[in-house]
Amino acid sequence: MKITEHIKKANNKTLFSFEIIPPKKGNNIQELYDNIDSLMEFKPPFIDVTTSREELIYVDKGNGLLDRRTTRTRPGTLGICAAIKHKYDVDTVPHVLCGGFTKEETEYLLVDCDYLGIQNVMALRGDAMGHQKYFEATKGGHPFAKDLVSQINDLNSGKYLHDVIETNHKSDFCIGVAGYPEKHLESPSLQTDLKHLKEKVDAGADYVVTQMFFDNQKYFEFVKAAKEAGINVPIIPGIKPIAVKRHLQLLPQVFRIDLPETLISSVKSCKTNKDVRQVGVEWAIQQSKELLAAGVPVLHYYSMGKSDNIGKIASAIF
Ligand code: FAD
Repeated sequence: MKITEHIKKANNKTLFSFEIIPPKKGNNIQELYDNIDSLMEFKPPFIDVTTSREELIYVDKGNGLLDRRTTRTRPGTLGICAAIKHKYDVDTVPHVLCGGFTKEETEYLLVDCDYLGIQNVMALRGDAMGHQKYFEATKGGHPFAKDLVSQINDLNSGKYLHDVIETNHKSDFCIGVAGYPEKHLESPSLQTDLKHLKEKVDAGADYVVTQMFFDNQKYFEFVKAAKEAGINVPIIPGIKPIAVKRHLQLLPQVFRIDLPETLISSVKSCKTNKDVRQVGVEWAIQQSKELLAAGVPVLHYYSMGKSDNIGKIASAIF
């Protein structure tokens, strides 16, 4: 079922969902299943599975020289989506990226999604590769998420990349896109970023999932500004519980988001990362309670592969 249909069917009841990341290459899927097992009692109607683009690695050739190669360290997004859908009878949402993929490869992936009965996809641009300062569009790929949304929307109208086919089966994807309550890090202003978010919605996006935030006021103001900008699709808040002390530096650095002073001092006063994890859980519970009271359609949690903290939050809320 489409995410928008799940939301409609819930009839103003807030739903629980979460995002997982595929295991590192070389691992099996069992640990992922163990994490999902513990969250299924909260009845998520859908689970997101992230995708990571290719990375550069240097292989020692043994003669003092290094060989530069590209690799994907966390492959298997679509396979995981299919496996989870089959095992738990839950909808899965593969993340589809512009970066690292040609339009042709994207079409191939979307056709596979359609065959597998996967009806929702999250359309994202992706980030620059580790060695790059700025995102560069992949040759033959899309420069912005909005262009990827258009490609998916074209497929929903039976329009494929090359018009050499005789029958044009129409897919029926529900399309999610990313939104940034504290603006995307490359955007010169929140207003400009909202203009680009509106372009994604106009291109066919059906719902928005936000970047993590730790101050609900940022989300409420974002939703208000988005509505004023003419964005009328559901905006799902993304919540990440702080888990280690290093997040105090890492999260602002990577995502350009602010952390509230009270959260910073609570984390700083922790003696161990176990204490930090507990502070993260308590903060996320307070955030979730307020968002729930405000009637958000879904509370969507970033699990980062470990579900114990998400389970504690969910049992306090759902
Ligand atoms: P876009 O919407 O294309 O925006 C990127 C930047 O370009 C913004 O600053 C925007 O304002 C600007 N822009 C847009 N259109 C134009 C235009 N026409 N002209 C000029 N500027 C423009 N990354 C992954 O690698 N894998 C994942 O699985 C993943 N999942 C995510 C899930 C969520 C919920 C979120 C919020 C992010 C996720 N990301 C993921 C990160 C995401 O790929 C990055 O934040 C990326 O830098 C931007 O992606 P986007 O889809 O928002 O890009």
